[in-house]
Amino acid sequence: MTWTSTVDPQTYINLRRRLHEIPEPGFKEFKTQALLLDYIHSLPQERIEIRTWRTGILVKVRGAGSEAAGRRIVAYRTDIDGLPIEEQTGYAFASQHPGYMHACGHDLHMAIALGALTETVNREPYQDDVLFIFQPAEEGPGGAKPMLASEQLQDWMPDFIFALHIAPGYPVGTIATRPGTLFAHASMLNIELIGRGGHAAVPQAANDMIVAGAHLITQLQTIVSRNVDPTEGAVVTIGKITGGTKANIIADRVVLEGTIRTLSAASTALVRKRIEAVVRGVEAAYECKASIDYGAHYIHVHNDEAETAELLQFTAEHGLAETVRCEASMVGEDFGFFLERIPGVMFWLGADCSQELHHAELQPKEEAIAHGVSLVSAYLAHKAGVAGAAYEAR
Ligand SMILES: [Zn+2]
Ligand SMILES: [Zn+2]
Repeated sequence: MTWTSTVDPQTYINLRRRLHEIPEPGFKEFKTQALLLDYIHSLPQERIEIRTWRTGILVKVRGAGSEAAGRRIVAYRTDIDGLPIEEQTGYAFASQHPGYMHACGHDLHMAIALGALTETVNREPYQDDVLFIFQPAEEGPGGAKPMLASEQLQDWMPDFIFALHIAPGYPVGTIATRPGTLFAHASMLNIELIGRGGHAAVPQAANDMIVAGAHLITQLQTIVSRNVDPTEGAVVTIGKITGGTKANIIADRVVLEGTIRTLSAASTALVRKRIEAVVRGVEAAYECKASIDYGAHYIHVHNDEAETAELLQFTAEHGLAETVRCEASMVGEDFGFFLERIPGVMFWLGADCSQELHHAELQPKEEAIAHGVSLVSAYLAHKAGVAGAAYEAR
């Protein structure tokens, strides 16, 4: 199969730029949802069904196969939210929302989804239904899990699902993935220490939580270095400390905020057990009260082995991309919740830029959009057109 676009790829670049201007936080993607719906409504509607869930959208393109013959649903998912980052790209189409930016490439992901939707609608019906999932709140608090539980998705539950994430480190035209764990288990880590405040010059009458917090942070570093299997790896990062009010007052409260990343559920359990032990130790040593909150937890992105092999083989055979088998990354992604329930695969899409994801100057190459559209479109056609039992029976 070769894939020729039915629409000038500049259309999708323009859509990306319009989406880039309006980044919004999770579950507040109101303008984004309106822009997406506006475009979706401009397509031929005969075979399309649209549902909304909160700020998300589901678009189903009906296939030609009969239900009796086992018509399936094959799905492609994009995330739609931005990040609380002040943009510094200097783009003419830079964010118009102060303090927010599409710094994780979700604007490209959406443009690719709109492109693949257009390409699917513009062709003769495939055998199976094709479902496009526009999922809110990937960066937090997490849209995938509640979306999977939503009424809107229950009778449209896909039989196969895939998704991509742009990768600054790979050239345009390349995809990278691996069977099994691609992205980490990720959870937040919030620890609050409560002691007794007082005058800076009378420490014996107080119970200093700055000192307790400093010891706790140091001890947390021993978990990855001394408890976790070094061949497995893990991350415990404290990214924010809040405590104290003034130089001459002993702080009665310190809050540490961070994240935990591991590559297995067993490692997460081990890391949490050790955090709890270390925190109990600090509590005893500094006679304070401590509480731990893990907040939102994203399970790992675990690629189905057979689906990963099929994607890589199809892509290479049809010259749709250079394929790389990559290592697992400590990135978190709530697409893991889809893969927990539905067989499928996620992959990196080369977007070739020097900045990392979540960087204020992130400038992925826009050529990645046309590449993504043809790759996703061709793979949807493959999965929906020839993979189903119904198609073989025809
Ligand atoms: Zn991100
Ligand atoms: Zn992302």
